[in-house]
Amino acid sequence: MNKEKEESKKYIFPFGNNKAEGGNHLKGILGNKGAGLAEMSKMKIPVPPGFTISSKICKEFTNNSNQLPESLKELILSAMTQLENAIGLKFGDENNPLLISVRSGAQISMPGMMETILNLGLNDTTVKGLAKITKNPRFAYDSYRRYIEMYSHVVLGLDKSKFEAILHNKKALLGIKKDQNLTEENLKDVIDEYKNLVKNILNKDFPQNITNQLWSAISAVFKSWNVPRAIKYRSMNNIPNDVGTAVNIQAMVFGNKGEDCATGVVFTRNPSTGENEIFGEYIVNAQGEDIVSGAITPSPINIKSKEQCFGDEKSLEELMPKAYQELKTILHKLELHYKDMQDVEFTIENGKCWILQTRSAKRTAHATIKIAVDMMQEGILTKQQALDNIEPEIVEKVLHPSIDPRAVKIFLSKGLPASPGAAFGKIALSSSKAEIMARHGEVILVRNETNPEDIGGIGASSGILTARGGMTSHAAVVARGMGKPCVTGAFEVMVDNEKSTVKINNTILKEGELITINGSSGEIFLGKVGTIQTKLDKSFENLIEIAEEFALLKVMANAETIKDAKVAKNFNACGIGLCRTEHMFFQEDRINIFREMILSQNLEERSKILNQLLFYQEEDFYQLFKIMSGLPVTIRLLDPPLHEFFPQNDEDELGHMSQLMSLNLKDIKNRVNSLKEANPMLGHRGCRLAITYPEIYQMQVKAILRATHRCIKESIVTIPEIMVPLVMNKAEFMMLKSLINDTANTLEKELNTKFVYKLGSMIELPAAVINAGEIASEADFISFGTNDLTQTCLGISRDDAGKFLRTYMEKGIFFEDPFSSIHEQTVGELLKMAVISSKKHNPAIKIGICGEHAGDPASIKFFNKLKIDYISCSPFRIPIAKVSAGKYNAKV
Ligand code: PEP
Ligand code: MG
Repeated sequence: MNKEKEESKKYIFPFGNNKAEGGNHLKGILGNKGAGLAEMSKMKIPVPPGFTISSKICKEFTNNSNQLPESLKELILSAMTQLENAIGLKFGDENNPLLISVRSGAQISMPGMMETILNLGLNDTTVKGLAKITKNPRFAYDSYRRYIEMYSHVVLGLDKSKFEAILHNKKALLGIKKDQNLTEENLKDVIDEYKNLVKNILNKDFPQNITNQLWSAISAVFKSWNVPRAIKYRSMNNIPNDVGTAVNIQAMVFGNKGEDCATGVVFTRNPSTGENEIFGEYIVNAQGEDIVSGAITPSPINIKSKEQCFGDEKSLEELMPKAYQELKTILHKLELHYKDMQDVEFTIENGKCWILQTRSAKRTAHATIKIAVDMMQEGILTKQQALDNIEPEIVEKVLHPSIDPRAVKIFLSKGLPASPGAAFGKIALSSSKAEIMARHGEVILVRNETNPEDIGGIGASSGILTARGGMTSHAAVVARGMGKPCVTGAFEVMVDNEKSTVKINNTILKEGELITINGSSGEIFLGKVGTIQTKLDKSFENLIEIAEEFALLKVMANAETIKDAKVAKNFNACGIGLCRTEHMFFQEDRINIFREMILSQNLEERSKILNQLLFYQEEDFYQLFKIMSGLPVTIRLLDPPLHEFFPQNDEDELGHMSQLMSLNLKDIKNRVNSLKEANPMLGHRGCRLAITYPEIYQMQVKAILRATHRCIKESIVTIPEIMVPLVMNKAEFMMLKSLINDTANTLEKELNTKFVYKLGSMIELPAAVINAGEIASEADFISFGTNDLTQTCLGISRDDAGKFLRTYMEKGIFFEDPFSSIHEQTVGELLKMAVISSKKHNPAIKIGICGEHAGDPASIKFFNKLKIDYISCSPFRIPIAKVSAGKYNAKV
């Protein structure tokens, strides 16, 4: 540790010739590239020698008005002398010149954002020495041409395209297609033209003092940390601004020395498919910049990569088999060392392979999973390490279509990423329109907000976009349950139902026009943007198995329809952790009976209607029990904020209701109005409804147990768990517990049977947290409804938060949407309190979470630490929840 501390105080870190000062442990100051070069040197991988200047200097440099400290210059000159001695060449020597590269390299790689200079050390004199000693004047002048172009652009700030034009014109004049076919004489002409260009623009000659050029090149690389594109990249990728870049100075090796030389980029596995076969491209007789800039079209690295490309260029495997094998061996060694797929830059100089950079390779979501699982099966990674290499969010990407990264996009606006995946379709501004339009193609339902009436429209649409609502609003919860992409809280979306248009930001679109939404990022695009979907394969299954092996938390499903329950079963859910019974009444054949029940004005009327509902409920529960045979099914008794069940200002729908219920329109309106509450989320809902109307819960309990009875007779193992919502204290819970047990006793006598069921309470209110111990002492289980608990703890409406939460996050009051990721300091603390007191009062208590947070990886990491029993989430989030539960438990 002390050694590390001492080491990190140094400014210069030499590497090469199978040894190095520093390594991966000093990545913070050596940067990704520098740490890799040091590490590779120690692994005896051929790396051109050199040294890294610590990224700490970058900050000093910026604070020092972009000047290099004199003391540093001395250190660099002495490191240069060491380098000269190591390879027997001399910087600036007329006969034997040392050429170097000067490259940036931050801790987190920022591809293409900062500067690089190659072939430094050349001037009008040394170029001659290089030509002589290598007996290859063409190579020497090619390198000098490249150097002038790069230095002029990076250090002198001249426009690169002017140099490219000179080269292009020269080739056109000579009728030459490839740079490689330019002769020594041609290159000398180009150099003269380059120098004239510099003189014309700057009114002075191209500089010849190479030591000054060295200082300028290092300064230019440090400066490039603060160019606008680098700043933008950092802000987009959450990279801190103050870490700075290191600078790597390295002896040049040359891929442009002749036909037995090459340069290339190679991945140790296929980054698109994850296949265990090296994949990449190379160019003969060229330098690395030619690949990066796209100036020359590269050829495939091996016969396998060639199969996936067009053209009949020879692969490196065919052209330089020995160097290819050498490269392959190195790649394997690197993968074993880093225990991850690598992205490697190499140069072949006269048949010898040199490695210039190695870093963890970017890859598709599908490849990420395949590679982690393959590496585990190949014995490179332990199961734990394989899980460690997977960010749970990747799992969502393979389950849902995503925006094709190559697609052209016209951005319109952004809302909250409420349900992952991408979808395009024609805009439908009402659910009825969506259902009709969906018969002829894809539809995106665009609404101010949705309510239970929209269920048909949501079901028919490919995606949902709402102007209002947050991460747990109706649209978000329902879309997530159905596995459909959804963007909520898009406040720049303004629906004009009168004109059948929607204004998104400043663009006005008509119903029927195409848009695309990305529910993983919240983005909204104009028109149809291409999407991609990968197929799930064996490695996905394997990953889930590994996660299950490590997970402490069982993953259950929030499901109430047969379809949802089947999806959950397919994803191997450990049962149903939340069946929201009110959602069972949304189908067309039931919604009006349900509404009638709510609107009924006396017990007699209500009991009659409840009898009709009993029939539906029993059948629904029976189906769920059958699908989940042998697994617990947690049925939450009715919890409707009543307003959700009625059309708000829809005259047609109210008219339809009046016909069905044989009530006049005025009466219906009056009754609906009488249900209106100023604050319905805190109104006559949850178990409060059953305290005033116990017959509702009686009917539901009867339905649950009658369904159980049918199952028993058919030998279907059924484990019903009855859950009471929005409980505040023990008295409330006890009253309902008696009601439930009495109903069960009566039914037992009627059916001459004995039922085994569990009885539990949701914990969704701060009051319930305070009383959790007492409630738990009377319950078999408790389940935290973190949606309502967040709402009631923070005093922020889950339905309206979309409007202002973004500002809260921008201003740093919240780092994450608290309805999406658990707010640990507040709601998290309540959870901790309640878990401790519940366990104290009832050590056998089963504890779970069933709010939307149960599908969020960061929240699951926190829940894992609570040592509770289960989490219950939307069926399509089961895989991400399982991977998170496994990954975060494997780490503790
Ligand atoms: C909750 O509040 O977290 C919960 C699961 O219940 P609902 O979302 O149905 O209110
Ligand atoms: Mg709730």
